[in-house]
Amino acid sequence: MRRAAPVLAAVVAAGLVADPGVGQANGVNTHTWISFHAIEHLPDGELKRLLADPTLAAMIVNGSIFPDGGYAVDSEFGETAHWGPFHAAYIRWMQANLPEPYARGEARRHVAFLMGLGSHGMADQIFDSMFMEAARGYDAANWSDTLLDSFDTATDVMLVDATGVDYRGTEQWLPSDDLPGMFAEVGITVDSSTLLDAQNAMHTFVLAYGAANGRDPAAVMRYRAQYPWASAHLMDPHEPGSPPCEGEVVAAYWLTLWDRLHGVDGPQNQIIATYPPAGSDGHPTDHRLVEAQVVVVFGHGIAAGVAAKIRITDPTGKVYGFTARPFYSEANAVAIRPTEPWAANETITVELLPGIATVDNLTYDQPWSFEFTTRPASGPRDPTSDPTPHEGEPWTAPPASGGCDAAGGAGLGAALLMLRALRRRRGRA
Ligand SMILES: [Zn+2]
Repeated sequence: MRRAAPVLAAVVAAGLVADPGVGQANGVNTHTWISFHAIEHLPDGELKRLLADPTLAAMIVNGSIFPDGGYAVDSEFGETAHWGPFHAAYIRWMQANLPEPYARGEARRHVAFLMGLGSHGMADQIFDSMFMEAARGYDAANWSDTLLDSFDTATDVMLVDATGVDYRGTEQWLPSDDLPGMFAEVGITVDSSTLLDAQNAMHTFVLAYGAANGRDPAAVMRYRAQYPWASAHLMDPHEPGSPPCEGEVVAAYWLTLWDRLHGVDGPQNQIIATYPPAGSDGHPTDHRLVEAQVVVVFGHGIAAGVAAKIRITDPTGKVYGFTARPFYSEANAVAIRPTEPWAANETITVELLPGIATVDNLTYDQPWSFEFTTRPASGPRDPTSDPTPHEGEPWTAPPASGGCDAAGGAGLGAALLMLRALRRRRGRA
C-alpha cells in the first residue's frame, strides 16, 4: 500500500516510528559526514577521484541516508539495504546493466550511490559495536530509546554542531525504477513509490531535524547534557567506533565493493579492519570493559557459528574464553568478548581458523591471525586499522585510448585475480 508522504512526515516528526531492529545507530547527518570523511582515507586512484567529484556529491548523500528510510515508512527494505547481500545484488545489477568502465559514464552515479549505501551499513556496525556499546555504560543515567531523545538523534545533533555540516537542499536522487528489482533478488517486495516516499521523508524530516537542531544552542546543550560521555568523545579519532574512526573502515569496505564490481575478491578483502590494530600495545585487560573486546571486520557479512572458528591464546599456552558473533545478523563486524581478563603485560594472539562462512555462501579457507599486547602503549593509538591494506585498485581503461596506463591497470587486475583466496561453497543445502 502506498503511504501518503504527509502521514509519514507527521509520524517521523512526532517521533512515533517504532524501533524495528537496528534502532540506535548513527544519525543520517553523521552517516553522510562519515562518507565524505572516508573519501580522505581512500588511496589515490579512480574510486577516490570519482567520489571526490562534486557533481556526484548528491548521490553520496542519497545513498548514505537511504537505508534508514525503511524505518520511516515501516518497510523491511531499510533493514535489508544495510547489509552485504543487498550491496552484492546492487553490484550484480550494475554488472548486468551498465557499460564499463564503471569509473566513467552513467555508472558513476550508481557507484556514488552504492558507496553511500555501503558506508551506512558499515558505519552502523562499527559505531554500534564499539562507541555506542561503551556509551550505554558511561551514559546510562539518561539513556533513552525514544526516537527524538535517542542516542543516534543526540549524536547526530552533536556532530552537526561540531562540524557545521548542512546537507539540506541536496537534490533527491534515487534509482527508483531499478531498486525494486534488486530488492526482489534478496526477497524483499517494495515498490518505487514507497521508496520515493521514504527518501523524501529522510530528506525533509530526519536529515533536516539534525541539521536544524545542531544549529540551536539550546537543543545542542540538552543533548550534550543527556549523553555527556558521548559529547566529550564523539569526534575523537582515537575513540573506538567514533565517526572519524568509522571513516577508515568505510574506506576499506568501499575498496572491497569496488574490487567486487570489477570481479576481483582477493585476500586483501578478507579482513578489512581489526580493533585493536594488529601489533598494537595498550589493550585493556579488564574483560568487563567494552573496550577490552576484539572486533574483526570482514569484507563480507559473516554467518552464525563463527565463534567455533576462533582461537585466542598467549605465549604461556593459556587459551582464553570468549563469546563471538556477527554484531548484527549479516554484519561484517564480529564482536569477540572475553569472558576472563587478558593477562597483563602479555601478547595475545587471535587466530581465525579455516572455514569461516559468509552470508553469501563463501568460505574463507585461509587461516589468518594477528597479535596485540596488554603492555602499556607509548601514546594514543588508532582504534582500528586494516591489516591487509590495498596496494592499488582495479582500473579499466577508457574505450579507444588505452596506452601504458591501461596495460598497467590490466596487469594489476590480473595479479589481484591470481591472489583470489575465496572459493565458492558448493551444494549448500
Ligand atoms: Zn542505519
